[in-house]
Amino acid sequence: MSADPRRQVPRTDTLLADPRLADAGQRLGRALVKGAVQRVQQRVRAGEVSPEGAVDAVLAELPGTASSLRPVLNATGVVVHTNLGRAPLSAAAAEAIAAATGTTDVELDLRTGRRGPRGEAAIAALLGAVPAAEAAIVVNNCAAALALVATALGGELVIARGELVEIGDGFRIPELLESTGARLREVGTTNRVALADYRGALGPETRAVLKVHPSNFVVRGFTRAVEVGELAAALAGTGVPLVADVGSGLLRPHPVLPDEPDLQTTLAAGADLVLASGDKLLGGPQAGLVLGRAELVQRLRRHPLYRALRVDKTTLAALEATLRGPLPPVQEMLAADVEGLRARASAIAARLADAGIDAVAVDAESRVGGGGAPEHPLPGAAVSLPLEFAEPLRLGARPVVGYVEDDRTLLNLRSVLPAADHALADAVLEVAEKWT
Ligand SMILES: *Cc1c(COP(=O)(O)O)cnc(C)c1O
Repeated sequence: MSADPRRQVPRTDTLLADPRLADAGQRLGRALVKGAVQRVQQRVRAGEVSPEGAVDAVLAELPGTASSLRPVLNATGVVVHTNLGRAPLSAAAAEAIAAATGTTDVELDLRTGRRGPRGEAAIAALLGAVPAAEAAIVVNNCAAALALVATALGGELVIARGELVEIGDGFRIPELLESTGARLREVGTTNRVALADYRGALGPETRAVLKVHPSNFVVRGFTRAVEVGELAAALAGTGVPLVADVGSGLLRPHPVLPDEPDLQTTLAAGADLVLASGDKLLGGPQAGLVLGRAELVQRLRRHPLYRALRVDKTTLAALEATLRGPLPPVQEMLAADVEGLRARASAIAARLADAGIDAVAVDAESRVGGGGAPEHPLPGAAVSLPLEFAEPLRLGARPVVGYVEDDRTLLNLRSVLPAADHALADAVLEVAEKWT
């Protein structure tokens, strides 16, 4: 009877006292390690793990960090993938976050020892990159920027019907604006709006005219819109500010994305405030950027709601590093040329084919994603694998997310940095090895 594994299940205290598990407890927290210990004790009881192998089994169960979020290789070809956390941060931004994690001088002037303006350097970096702006603030995300504008300016907001946009996951900009108590005065039709429509809507209750970039769709055919410059000229002298939500956060015109609006051009064309996300095409942390006329920015900053929407020190650190540091991954991915992508796909496919895997390099289109340049496919290349790779790749130790097209699994390289090509191939090899 002494062979009964239930009698030999190591005690919780004994396991937790093992130096390797004690170390893990220091790093990950005792509760997390204890949970893994209890699961392994069950497996010993069931005879699946030997009592001597219990510590190793616990170590194998432990996650790499105390968070369950795992690094994923994005081979979807969608550069800014909302479900994969949008913009991957640059190494410079990640370092800046690590440095700002502890106590830091985010709101203290070390020269005088007195309180200083919060996030001053990040704001200065923004203004340096967008010289048409007089002032800027940073809030939690672009939705927060819209909510703050609608709340602080209040009253009636004039907006074109063709710009009543749903962004994704049921997030509708008009519903957000109305949730603040603001009233929307809709003008024009779904496909057409004219300057006269805006003019006719202005009244004593008007607090702002809002232009929202339809980031994830286009209207084609019999259409008409009013550009920022035209609207700004018509509003001049009325005292009604023009607020433009440009969405994706390009600071300047981008050669690869000629139709995507940018902050500098929109302000220079006459917008009083521009709003954008930090984690789309800018390639930085989740943030809502608000830039424009000093008086308006000041009004937003003084509003009590600003306090509820402001960002933390690590976001400010990452934003500054994104603006001042080397090109962030999103920008690198956008700039990648087709020939380079094809060469990388061929090299990976050759390595996999050498190992007996049915892998070939193919041309494949990719997308900006994250509500940017919806009708602008980017040319590129992918590694094409048999269909059955898709799921095990997603479930692997280093998850890879690709997509299925014509009964093949495609790993699109536009959204993978060259430095990760090796890891991508390794992940495929690991899946194939389990099958042989
Ligand atoms: C993406 C987007 C938003 C929402 O931005 P978040 O930063 O996700 O809150 C708002 N407006 C436009 C035009 C967008 O494209």
